[in-house]
Amino acid sequence: MDYLQCYQKAGKIASEVRETARNTNYIGRRLLDICNTLENKIKVLGGLPAFPVNVSLNDVAAHYTAEPYDETEVKDGDVLKIDIGVQIDGYIADTAVTVCYDARYDALVRASEAALAEAVRYATANARVNEIGKVIESTISKFGFKPIQNLSGHSLEQYTIHAGKSIPNIRTIGPSFGLSENQAYAIEPFVTTKNGHGVVFEGKTRNIFAIRSRKPSKDKKADSILEAIWNTYKTLPFAARWLMDSYEASEVQRSINILIAKKNVHTYPILVETQGQVVTQSEHTIIPKIDHVDIITR
Ligand code: MN
Ligand code: MN
Repeated sequence: MDYLQCYQKAGKIASEVRETARNTNYIGRRLLDICNTLENKIKVLGGLPAFPVNVSLNDVAAHYTAEPYDETEVKDGDVLKIDIGVQIDGYIADTAVTVCYDARYDALVRASEAALAEAVRYATANARVNEIGKVIESTISKFGFKPIQNLSGHSLEQYTIHAGKSIPNIRTIGPSFGLSENQAYAIEPFVTTKNGHGVVFEGKTRNIFAIRSRKPSKDKKADSILEAIWNTYKTLPFAARWLMDSYEASEVQRSINILIAKKNVHTYPILVETQGQVVTQSEHTIIPKIDHVDIITR
């Protein structure tokens, strides 16, 4: 398979898993069960998770995944962002859906879906990213809502989720760039209410990790975990629960703490809306072509 075929395969799996999530009633289900079930489905379909499934509730915009013994359940009235990554040989499809159990927020979900649909139409090769940001913001504004201004889409590279180029969710001034043909990008509008600030901050909870250095930590167990993660996931994000089959629970947490302290591993803190307002998200991975847009997670 060439890299474009890897993206197609990853996209097909990610889209199937996302649609399963969209069509499942999760009220009363544990986040842990949701993450495990969706990640397992990715594997059954022939992929690997590109990152732990994110299950971010209400005012948490992103970067929450279930802890090893997480007992959090989805309640009636919750707004749940489910963000799914699939990799084939390190080539990543990144897609998200918001499931909403409070009718008052249905329009907030529609706004992120509409902003994504509009943005994707513009995302052919050479499209300027400031134009895409403008389209996203103006679509969300028409619903009377606000985009999250400090979250953005991003370019994707093999084994790298945030590969350096950002696609804004707002009107921006200053330098812009054009989308490259046959380069993968994720576009992901986040929307909050008019009472929100439209900004997220980093919360205390950190349960998504990624390797940044393989320099031995000198702790035998921690180094063994470091190598185990590297062998399958390289620099892609991982969760503690992924290690529970092979290591003692107490060893996993202790080792991760050592790896963080030694700067072998960095963390992705949860991202929370500043005013505590509900956030919705929709996301596709696309590959721009000269005369059309290939939405690989369609
Ligand atoms: Mn995502
Ligand atoms: Mn993304």
